[in-house]
Amino acid sequence: MADIIQLLPDHVANQIAAGEVVQRPASVVKELLENAIDAKAETIKLLVKDAGKTLVQVIDDGVGMSVTDARLSFERHATSKIRSAEDLFQLNTKGFRGEALASIAAIAHVELKTKQAQEEVGTAITIEGSEIVNQDVVVTPTGTSIAVKHLFFNIPARRNFLKSNTVETRHIIDEFQRVALAHPSISFVMYHNGSEVFNLPQSNYRQRIVNIFGTKTNEKLVPVNEDTDVLKISGFVGKPEYAKKSRGEQFFFVNNRFIKSAYLNHAITAAFDGLIKDGTHASYFLNLEVNPQTIDINIHPTKTEIKFDDEHTLYAILRASVKHSLGQFNIAPVLDFDRDANLDTPYDYSNKSASTPTIEVDRTFNPFDTEPRVEPSRTTSSSSSSPSSFSGRKPASTSSWESLYVGMESKGTKSQNDFSEIQFESVESTASLFDDSQISSKQSSYQLQNKYVLSAIKSGMLVVDQNRAHQRILYEDFLRYITGKDTVSQQLLFPLQIQLSKQEHDIVLSLKSDLEYAGFVFQNFENQMVEIIGLPINVPESEVSIILEQLISDVEHEVPDANFSAADLLAKSLSKSLAIKSGQSLTQTEQDHLVNSLFACKDPNVSPKNKPTFITMTVDELDKKFM
Ligand code: ADP
Ligand code: MG
Repeated sequence: MADIIQLLPDHVANQIAAGEVVQRPASVVKELLENAIDAKAETIKLLVKDAGKTLVQVIDDGVGMSVTDARLSFERHATSKIRSAEDLFQLNTKGFRGEALASIAAIAHVELKTKQAQEEVGTAITIEGSEIVNQDVVVTPTGTSIAVKHLFFNIPARRNFLKSNTVETRHIIDEFQRVALAHPSISFVMYHNGSEVFNLPQSNYRQRIVNIFGTKTNEKLVPVNEDTDVLKISGFVGKPEYAKKSRGEQFFFVNNRFIKSAYLNHAITAAFDGLIKDGTHASYFLNLEVNPQTIDINIHPTKTEIKFDDEHTLYAILRASVKHSLGQFNIAPVLDFDRDANLDTPYDYSNKSASTPTIEVDRTFNPFDTEPRVEPSRTTSSSSSSPSSFSGRKPASTSSWESLYVGMESKGTKSQNDFSEIQFESVESTASLFDDSQISSKQSSYQLQNKYVLSAIKSGMLVVDQNRAHQRILYEDFLRYITGKDTVSQQLLFPLQIQLSKQEHDIVLSLKSDLEYAGFVFQNFENQMVEIIGLPINVPESEVSIILEQLISDVEHEVPDANFSAADLLAKSLSKSLAIKSGQSLTQTEQDHLVNSLFACKDPNVSPKNKPTFITMTVDELDKKFM
């Protein structure tokens, strides 16, 4: 029988191999960025067009390549990074297989420009489907620029397999963020279709996280640091109250390389056990440093999985140090109202009779008195306690007193200002409620059952329903935008495409101009598909489809009557969707802000659906209850 085995031609072999390395434009982004880092670049620029389908270009200011290396770099197994198999165990570079450029060149049009510092001129090479079509001497800055165009031009099946631009762009941003997070000391910029998406200056790790994920992230971060013989950990975890429904912000880097590890992720979950709600995920940005000899990163072609020699130990250290950080920074809750009351009394005391607590009152104490006092006279409400037991204590000085209230005082001052505004704007009942500057300067609020916000007012107590109150606030905001037409919107980096049925499409279309006044910006409105490029300032991108769904169902269920107004309906629907829900815990600032904003409303008493937003209880009423 004749021999039937044939060697595949190189370009076919390259195309097949390319499938392993390049799944989508984001894979090209990753490989090119990593090469730039290996080349010791200090500044890296990523340019993307059409979600990488038309162009992915990375420009670096690294070491560049000689003419020979430039040509060789596209050969399979051409790498400058390892010389022998032993080197594999001491790897400090991202790449080492020498197949990324060869693979990319097999399935795209690639333009390389590169120059080394000591050279006057550089080299330009153009390759299409593994064929070198041009080579030139060029004037180019030191470093390397690689432009990858028309990815999968010669493999239509792969090209068709690519997802929508939104999805592919998401993948690119994911890769970009991972690389940028692992290298805060390198500056990165990313442009998509000519507009800047990220501009990340050289910084420390915390700043890099904040630059990528937004200024608000800063207050969420709790540092984690651990240094043991087998493992060094540095980085941050997100405070439990910021846990998210999505797994978005979870990053492990091992020796500066992003990795996925369900096992290590579990260690973090275990550390957060009991601190976050089921179904939510803590964020983390953790760098693990281990001896490169104890890991095998070679087990997966895209190298995001990793094998550790001693996973159990790493797990234990990781869990313990995250727990420790959460405890140290006082993140674990201090008060827990759902606790079993039996646990509160130590066993030894459970059968003893309670002794009368004593209250000490310093009647001479005046917080506004800036002169330090010599010795206050103290009285105590209980004769069983001897005043002499306090004599050794120094009186609280004004400065230390102030320090206790710094945060609250400023809040109090602010709320006073806000409340004074109310007296002009709001209906009578509110004005009378807060007459004669009743709010004490230390006024602060308290959240009950994650549902009500309680505030002390001079006449007694104010109980605000957080959900209804927020609906009222948002409702008036939206009405103002829609009717006043002073629209505020945030532009999206990438258009958001939403598929609708014919009927849904018609409903949204009928509200289009009101939606636009509310802050939505539509780019395309055809074929049962809407493309949104701008959103009202307080609408999170992730919630848009839910909000539209709600809106459509509200319109469908609305019984049109004489008073029907599309603007009103839209404002009601949006405020319902976006309002803080019951069950959501609010920080002190958020509580104060909610109360202040409610009473800055035109009609603070009722929700958009005419339900009470708050009740008050006067001291008289309370007194009666104690009779
Ligand atoms: P690997 O990174 O695994 O070595 P690649 O195919 O990604 O393989 O790159 C091949 C070689 O080309 C690298 O080893 C390096 O010497 C060179 N090279 C690639 N990109 C750059 C760059 N941006 N700057 C300098 N040299 C580069
Ligand atoms: Mg490489």
